[in-house]
Amino acid sequence: MLNFIDVILPIPLPNFFTYSITIAEADFLKPGMRVSVPFGKSKIYTALVHEVHSRPPVLYEAKEIHQILDDEPLITEKQFDLWKWLASYYMCTLGDVMRAALPNAFILESETIIYRNTSLTINDSELEDDEFMVYEALHHQSSLTIQDITSIIDKKNALPVIKRLLDKEVILVKEEVYAKYKPKLVRYVQLDKQYAADQKLNELLESLSRAPKQRQVIMTLFSISAKSKSPIKVSELIEESDASSAIIKSLIDKHILEEHFIQTDRIEYDDDSETPNLKLSEDQNNALNDVVQKFDNQDVVLLHGVTSSGKTEIYIKLIQSVLNKNKQALYLLPEIALTTQLVQRLQGYFGEKVAVYHSKYSSNERVEVWKQVLQNSTKAQVIIGARSAVLLPFQDLGLVIVDEEHEQSYKQFDPAPRYHARDTAIVLANIFKIKTLLGSATPNLESYYNVQQGKYGMVELNTRYNDVLMPDIELVDLKDKHKRKRMKGHFSDRLIAEMTDTLKNGFQIILFQNRRGFSPIVECQTCGHSPQCPNCDVSLTYHQYRDQLRCHYCGFNTIMMKSCEACGTSNLDTKGFGTQQVEKEVSDLFPDYKVARMDLDTTRGKYGYEKIIDAFQHGEVDVLVGTQMLTKGLDFRNVKLVGVMNADNMLNFPDFRAHERSFQLLLQVSGRAGRTKERGKVLIQTYNPFHKILQQVSNNNYLEMYHEQMDDRHNFKYPPIYRLIKITLKHRDYNKVNTGADWFAKSLRNVFKQGVLGPEFPPVSRIRNQYHKNILVKIPKTQSLPKTKEAIIKINNSFSSVKDFRAIRVVLNVDNY
Ligand code: ADP
Ligand code: ZN
Repeated sequence: MLNFIDVILPIPLPNFFTYSITIAEADFLKPGMRVSVPFGKSKIYTALVHEVHSRPPVLYEAKEIHQILDDEPLITEKQFDLWKWLASYYMCTLGDVMRAALPNAFILESETIIYRNTSLTINDSELEDDEFMVYEALHHQSSLTIQDITSIIDKKNALPVIKRLLDKEVILVKEEVYAKYKPKLVRYVQLDKQYAADQKLNELLESLSRAPKQRQVIMTLFSISAKSKSPIKVSELIEESDASSAIIKSLIDKHILEEHFIQTDRIEYDDDSETPNLKLSEDQNNALNDVVQKFDNQDVVLLHGVTSSGKTEIYIKLIQSVLNKNKQALYLLPEIALTTQLVQRLQGYFGEKVAVYHSKYSSNERVEVWKQVLQNSTKAQVIIGARSAVLLPFQDLGLVIVDEEHEQSYKQFDPAPRYHARDTAIVLANIFKIKTLLGSATPNLESYYNVQQGKYGMVELNTRYNDVLMPDIELVDLKDKHKRKRMKGHFSDRLIAEMTDTLKNGFQIILFQNRRGFSPIVECQTCGHSPQCPNCDVSLTYHQYRDQLRCHYCGFNTIMMKSCEACGTSNLDTKGFGTQQVEKEVSDLFPDYKVARMDLDTTRGKYGYEKIIDAFQHGEVDVLVGTQMLTKGLDFRNVKLVGVMNADNMLNFPDFRAHERSFQLLLQVSGRAGRTKERGKVLIQTYNPFHKILQQVSNNNYLEMYHEQMDDRHNFKYPPIYRLIKITLKHRDYNKVNTGADWFAKSLRNVFKQGVLGPEFPPVSRIRNQYHKNILVKIPKTQSLPKTKEAIIKINNSFSSVKDFRAIRVVLNVDNY
């Protein structure tokens, strides 16, 4: 008889938990529905039914469930398959996956706080008795816990009542509250259409000869529009023509000027070529056909197309053909910042069918998209999203696109599941037996290696759309510039000259300053040299407390030197300069132009990115200074110059991927220059103009970079040749972490011998009062990955059964990037 269910609880339990159900409930319940269940002494959790069965648990008495929460499954069978893969591959629990996958609002818990929805007037008569009791209580108390509600009404019914109240929007559950962004309206004017003809215009100016102020406004309007070509903001016009807003208003009233308002967050993609009937260029067409053909024999194809080659348009065509078959398409992006531009572009083609899903959306918005995807609604046929979109309940997925597939932000660091969205997307596509297209101008070494191994197909696109030339990349030797006193602050004379020229001609500039990681590396201010680890091909990091340089991979260490090993000067520095300083220097150098900054500090909040991107896109900013964020596939039409303030600190970053990453970053940021007719210019300032990576960047030589980096990966046993699992131990007691890590590493060495590196403190070894220590397991391709993980889990289990170590947190990170 079917009278048990196995459920997944949203907590990190290694196993399913079994509850007993009645026959009627068994009849009704299906895998993927939610039930509320008691757990522990007094907790109530939302659990997901995984299986209805007849096997009583052996070790404990199955408790009864409280209540069924859904009429229909919220999770599909295919999702469960993906979840199981995630849990096993990334060494976490299904509860971890459940928590990452489900929007908060789906997981009601005893800790959940409930509020009244004050934005809605409720008609009491629509509420059932028990609902009314909760509603009433919320008038006396601003918030209630589920525990509170349980004592107000009969315990068994608390969660179903909450659910019903949520459905009726009477209440809200507590979560991160994101301020709703009020779209800002900007007022623009242009000359009324009747004055388009020269003659009419002359007549107008004639007639205004006795209204000099009004005439002045019209003249100013002309001179501004000759420069910028975009609509003119009223505020700008007032400022430039020195007129009052009353004068402008009278011109509008006389139908001489035409006024319109544009929502700054919703401005259409102002590109004439963006029409619903998109025509591909010949090169794009060939690439598209190639992709389609490769899909015949290959589940994954890599589209390796230079920046601005028009990859997006190829995706659009592929999506279109999927939609024609009434299937869903998933379009993954590495960064929320990118969705703004893309959503605008895709909505131009697919209109209402586009849905967006990412972590800056509120829980309620996410619930909405979740339901639309689950129901295969027409409003969610093209799903654009960052990492977590791969976890949506697709019904009939037809294609997965992973744009900018090389981006490291596809990997989740914390909390578990520490998954890589690109790799997860490929598994998802396999579950649906469909194809995945990876796209990048600078593919990840892993992906390119998979192409070389025949695992993926590849299509190349080497020309920019519209025959736009690749930007001209020039390396500026900072050492030489310093010597000859040609520097102003962090700006070389070359950069200043190019900037002056660009601004004078009305074009925009992007200045890139790499966020300087968290690791203090030592850099010679004279020659740019940075001390390297003899064993690991990474820069050594400076550890102040012992005045030492250390390799955080193998533990190699040496005393901090007094002078530079390379040039002998004592000009060693462990500090860097940031975007803020660059921003300030620009405004000092070019006081007449507007500078803005885009980095973590300036992009907080749901629309943080949008505001800056929009302002730049609409010419309100002349120079944009930014970090990594700037590099990721943004398409600005008017940028002619890109300046890289200092390429060395990223090249010297202590990570085996530093060179690959620098290549990608530099080419990507260069790709922002000159995306229209005017050829773009890129200036890279560096102390090492002969660095092989910089040479490869300036020649756009991906292949050479690939081969050289792969040699290193072979020699030093790193991915993609070896796999990595990083084990991090965390505890507030320094000694405890040390002993624990030694114990753990020793046990690992018993099994994996030289495959174990560390334990080693990371460069920042104490975070929020917790000491961290890392152990790295390198796994050759010949060694079974499942068996390796099994062994690690076994060691981890014995570790946590040691009384002294129980309090130490162990974090397992598979494919640590
Ligand atoms: P990528 O993603 O390869 O960097 P994009 O897809 O952003 O390149 O294309 C670069 C620019 O060229 C965009 O502004 C895009 O609108 C334009 N473009 C590309 N292909 C076409 C096309 N077939 N028709 C019109 N415009 C195009
Ligand atoms: Zn080392």
